[in-house]
Amino acid sequence: MEDISVRHVRKEFSRYPALHDVSLDIEGGELIALLGPSGSGKTTLLRLIAGLESPTAGQIFFGEEDASAKSVQDRNVGFVFQAYALFRNMTVLDNISFGLRVRPRQTRPPKEEIRKRAMELLELVQLGGLEKRYPQQLSGGQRQRVALARALAIEPRVLLLDEPFGALDAQVRKELRKWLREIHDRTGHTTVFVTHDQEEALELADRLVVMSQGRIEQVGTPDEVYDRPNSPFVFSFIGESSALPVTVENKQLWVGGRAIGLAAPEAPEGVARLYFRPHDVELVEGQACLAGVVVASRRVGGTRRVELEIGGDQGLVEIDLPFDHPAGEKSRIAFRPKRWQLFPVAGAAG
Ligand code: ATP
Repeated sequence: MEDISVRHVRKEFSRYPALHDVSLDIEGGELIALLGPSGSGKTTLLRLIAGLESPTAGQIFFGEEDASAKSVQDRNVGFVFQAYALFRNMTVLDNISFGLRVRPRQTRPPKEEIRKRAMELLELVQLGGLEKRYPQQLSGGQRQRVALARALAIEPRVLLLDEPFGALDAQVRKELRKWLREIHDRTGHTTVFVTHDQEEALELADRLVVMSQGRIEQVGTPDEVYDRPNSPFVFSFIGESSALPVTVENKQLWVGGRAIGLAAPEAPEGVARLYFRPHDVELVEGQACLAGVVVASRRVGGTRRVELEIGGDQGLVEIDLPFDHPAGEKSRIAFRPKRWQLFPVAGAAG
């Protein structure tokens, strides 16, 4: 059953639509990544789930209950922001236990119980022994761990993280990413986190919600979204991609008047765009292939990413090769994508 259900939510800021008709079901215990470029509406959606904003239209359900009109406190959400909002004048332990200490008397656990719980959380986030430190005596990564422990202390119904590792350097980010997944698997909280880092989303999340311009473009597991993107936007945004205009004729793909050896029996005839990943290509001999001249190359990890100008002014694509190729007329490379997708060209028939 869904734990959180966002139903036809629209959000306007002074008439500017930040979200258009967004619907999303989140299962209990899921780790969901909201992924998209800057301004796509990720933070707005997160803040609506938290209750920090209210929708212009639509509803947000927590289980069976319409939570749209409930306050942040009543929704019982745990929040972690990019800029660790820890209390500077409180020790690590007091920071972690804060949410429990400020509860109304009827629901506040006894003092000893609060301390015990905070100490357990301190161990969980691997900061045992640092309970007496103040935030400014911790590294950025340690502060985010404290922020997470503090969010978990209230036993939140849902944990909401807004670019939690955004301010940290690449190495610390990577470690915390792995660690967040472990903590999630141990505690089982329904978790929604915002990121614009596709690698982070692919590695961490059970499902990705890819957003663009206030809309959800695709929802799926990392494999689904990476291997079967449903739009040119998702194809280009998640992972590396190359694209080229093609024509579909006689169930074959043609580029610049020549068949390239790819059959497309299902595709409508006419113009389309061919998308493939630079690493998903094979070098081939013969006529029926794509061929281009090397215009540039650069190292990407262990391979060379080579930029090719496809004959007849068809455009530029990038492919990965195990060895370097100097740029120039003599460097002509023939290849074929091993896996690819076709998308219609906007405005074209079919
Ligand atoms: P980023 O990755 O840059 O944080 P985002 O995907 O989280 O971006 P949002 O912060 O949700 O995007 O913003 C979505 C759109 O709504 C943006 O165009 C933004 O300018 C606008 N917006 C967000 N908050 C407000 C606000 N309080 N008042 C006016 N406009 C806002």
